[in-house]
Amino acid sequence: MSKPSARRGTRLAHIGIAVRSLDEILPFYRDILGLPEVPLDDADGASIAGLEAGDALVELLEAESPDSPIGRFVAKRGPGIHHLCFSVDDLDAALERCRAAGIRLIDESPRIGAEKKRIAFLHPSSTAGVLVELSEY
Ligand code: ZN
Repeated sequence: MSKPSARRGTRLAHIGIAVRSLDEILPFYRDILGLPEVPLDDADGASIAGLEAGDALVELLEAESPDSPIGRFVAKRGPGIHHLCFSVDDLDAALERCRAAGIRLIDESPRIGAEKKRIAFLHPSSTAGVLVELSEY
């Protein structure tokens, strides 16, 4: 299915940061750095606080339970940068390029993620140790 909108090119959409407590850390990003808060739905077992940082968002991710992906990440590595998300014009085409290049995929096909966008994750072993999320505009 073709997209009616103009091509915008791949760009940074958000940085996901795993946190122990939104209440604890949100005031730093929102009040001290002055990033405007934007409402975001929870996803993948995490409560999410979104903050506008120019054209990209900072997403603070707090686990809703210890056995969620963020809960396991924080237990193992402590709080920190969890993933980078890049928006792409055509997620199917981007995944196909990754597959053809031998990039290890976590999601073999797109699924619906936060903000009801189509997303897919790439494995850090293929991306310099950084969990990469691709999303479609
Ligand atoms: Zn994300």
